[in-house]
Amino acid sequence: MKDNYLTLEIKNLQEKYKNGILNFTNNMFMSNDNKKTLPVYCPLNGEVLSEVTDSDEKDLEEIVFAIEQKQKIWEGYTFKKRADIVYKYRNILIDNIDELSMSIHLENGKCLADAKAEVLKSIETVEFACSMPNIIAGRLEEVSTNVWAMDEARPLGIVSSITPFNFPAMVPHWTIAQAIVLGNSMILKPSEQTPITSQLIAKYWKQAGLPDGVFNLVNGGTKIVQAICDNPKIKAVSFVGSTKVAEIVYKRASGNLKRALTLGGAKNFITVLPDSPVNSTVRDLISSAYGMVGQRCMAASVIIAVDDFKIKDKLVEELNNMSVRPNADFTEGLSPVSSLAGVENIKKYIDFAKDSGAKILVNGLDFKPEKEFENGYYLGPTLIDWRGCEDKMSPDEIFGPVLEIVGASNLEEAIKIQNNSPYGNAASIFTGKGLEAFEAIKHFKAGMLGINIGVPVPREPMSFGGIKLSKFGFGDITGPSANQFWTDLVKVTMKWNPESKKDWLS
Ligand code: NAD
Repeated sequence: MKDNYLTLEIKNLQEKYKNGILNFTNNMFMSNDNKKTLPVYCPLNGEVLSEVTDSDEKDLEEIVFAIEQKQKIWEGYTFKKRADIVYKYRNILIDNIDELSMSIHLENGKCLADAKAEVLKSIETVEFACSMPNIIAGRLEEVSTNVWAMDEARPLGIVSSITPFNFPAMVPHWTIAQAIVLGNSMILKPSEQTPITSQLIAKYWKQAGLPDGVFNLVNGGTKIVQAICDNPKIKAVSFVGSTKVAEIVYKRASGNLKRALTLGGAKNFITVLPDSPVNSTVRDLISSAYGMVGQRCMAASVIIAVDDFKIKDKLVEELNNMSVRPNADFTEGLSPVSSLAGVENIKKYIDFAKDSGAKILVNGLDFKPEKEFENGYYLGPTLIDWRGCEDKMSPDEIFGPVLEIVGASNLEEAIKIQNNSPYGNAASIFTGKGLEAFEAIKHFKAGMLGINIGVPVPREPMSFGGIKLSKFGFGDITGPSANQFWTDLVKVTMKWNPESKKDWLS
């Protein structure tokens, strides 16, 4: 039953994309004949799903040339008219939740429940963009007698968004609708590992009636990212991915005098005080650390166990009971890691912990998938206890189903440990004590903080973004602060009555 289901869905997808995963501009998919391609694998069983175009500088120039004039027309639309189209797009997303979720599931490997949650979050960000005519309404003020000042947010022109493999729908939607509704034309460069869902995104924008040239796709890897950073017609680059690449892209794009905002990786610390209720804390920690096999930039990476770590036994028990194989309809359960390279990287960190003297309380390397999944990229959950040799723990992000534990004798020490991390995406505290929770929130150095929340992702209209090595550039990638990223604020000063009383502004 399970095999039939997966085999059938994979066959459907392979048939649908038998001509490859293509670039898209002027509301048309572009042929990849005579182009280099890269294989796209299904992490559930290792099968090749399709081939994605590995674009180069020339492909990008072709797209930019094709859309340059179209951009001027789009800029001329009113906010209301642009938002009407984005609203139609939002409705199309709602009608196609199942198609989108299946595409995410097959190319990324996450279970259908997580894929659907990702689509719902994408819809939320699009809804924020739909409300833009109200949010962006400008200011007008009489700043001196008969002298009026106003400001206006104007689009930048052609902009680009470069995205990672772990959220093939949500991370692109952090930027696309907002940049577009603000009057820009968007060139999306999805991860070459999970480029399929973007084909649907392109199709839906066309269905929504978005004019030619406003939404575009360019596929590929490093080469095309470099070309985006270098192309003088592209005015702003947003990036989400690992810290190493975020830094490279930030330096290259801003070195070419573009606006840049690049979000990087994370290692998120969760402080657990001894008063935290065992069952709910364990449930939330497991969901945060092992949901999407830890491939979330907001996943719990390290528990800071303050004083008596009462939840340890229950945590170990639950992890030992965790089923690694997806359940009958793939709706939940521990999913595979998204790539073989990811599996190898994670293994390296587990081996390192073992060699460094940490206790491996639960070892995901022991897991062997059943025969029909033996080519999938599965790893079981791993729990590493560093207490007693904390100084040996690597500060690196592992990005897999691995949770580490360090100890602290009190809250002050826990705050110090959290603040020592070079990353600053998320930090959370679990406790029923208000004063301690507030103290932690006051001192934690991370962009997104939580109290009794495993994954403290801010919901709209709050904005998303970390600090330290988790983000380069100014502002956040969603919410009101992203409006500033995607626009220039133009200030106008007016005086209509030349006879009016003179003052320093006249
Ligand atoms: P990645 O950095 O390998 O790739 C991201 C994008 O950069 C892809 O589109 C890829 O094609 C491109 N790229 C890769 N190497 C490049 C290079 N050398 N030069 C130029 N471009 C390059 O990241 P990933 O593996 O796809 O995603 C996982 C990472 O993303 C994790 O570190 C995770 O924490 C991070 N992430 C961060 C956030 C956040 O909000 N901070 C959100 C999601 C994911």
